[in-house]
Amino acid sequence: MHAPMFSLEVFPPKRNAPVGTIYDTLDGLQGVDPDFISVTYGHGSQSDRTATARIAHTITAEYRIPAVAHLTAQYLDEAQADAALDMFEQANVSAVLALRGDRNPDREPLGVFEHASDLAAYIRRTRPDMTVFGACYPESHPQAHDLDEDIRNLKIKVDAGATHLISQLFYDNQDFLRFLDKARAAGICVPIEAGIMPVTNAGQVRRMVRTCSSRVPQPLETLLDKWGNDREALPAAGVVYASEQIADLVARGIDGIHLYTMNHPSVTRGIWRNVGLLFKTADDGSEGERSDD
Ligand code: FAD
Repeated sequence: MHAPMFSLEVFPPKRNAPVGTIYDTLDGLQGVDPDFISVTYGHGSQSDRTATARIAHTITAEYRIPAVAHLTAQYLDEAQADAALDMFEQANVSAVLALRGDRNPDREPLGVFEHASDLAAYIRRTRPDMTVFGACYPESHPQAHDLDEDIRNLKIKVDAGATHLISQLFYDNQDFLRFLDKARAAGICVPIEAGIMPVTNAGQVRRMVRTCSSRVPQPLETLLDKWGNDREALPAAGVVYASEQIADLVARGIDGIHLYTMNHPSVTRGIWRNVGLLFKTADDGSEGERSDD
């Protein structure tokens, strides 16, 4: 039996943040043993187009961890997509997470890569050696009519070349497990990692679930009611909540966990201390080898 994967997501610091911020994050993650770290790609006017590749390069070259670069494509033409993919190749990334990106109401998409599946197909055609990942939505993408339609579209993305999926955040494991059953029934056989976002800030959770059309289940609602204004207790409760979500999912045999670090290494370390042992290879006798203590 294969051990489940464990991966992390970091994001490039804002343009005006000190250059060393990302090193603080990556240094803070030492002791955690991810299979890869993915780096988000900003599409706002404040984002630096080269940041994703530069951070991915740091992760592979200095921290010796495989890096996955996100790329949002609806505002790119082919030449711009090529320029980004060239940078990722030079940065030695192990895969590209092909995304459409969120719509900016003030900007018309270029229409070259209308859906993530168009970028997946383009990468598959022009860079056959590059591995393509895709995003998926256990509670359905907010623009899809329903989960069944979203899964039919997800199948198009997989058929276009995505060989690994990473899910949007969710706070009720039943939502992920229902999605997983439907995806498998629809013939989607690639590995699907469950995206877990630890709760550290009540306002941020409320914003995220609104944007993602996700549900806050009652047990999480209770934590937010009790500790929503406590800046120390809420992250501590968030570590416990995320650890319990992860332990339950791993026990049910899912392919892997993708932890949204939100560039908060202490929270990530706290979760890893609780669940790191669950990611040991099931049959290689390496019990405890990957724990950080
Ligand atoms: P798509 O897969 O194109 O789906 C978008 C909508 O179109 C869905 O409703 C889908 O059902 C529909 N659809 C898809 N394909 C078709 C088709 N062929 N025909 C008809 N309809 C179709 N955003 C960033 O800006 N930067 C990031 O780094 C980033 N990283 C992310 C990482 C993960 C793991 C996730 C889950 C999301 C991330 N996002 C990021 C957010 C993402 O950009 C948004 O959720 C965006 O709205 C959709 O992107 P997508 O690639 O999933 O789009």
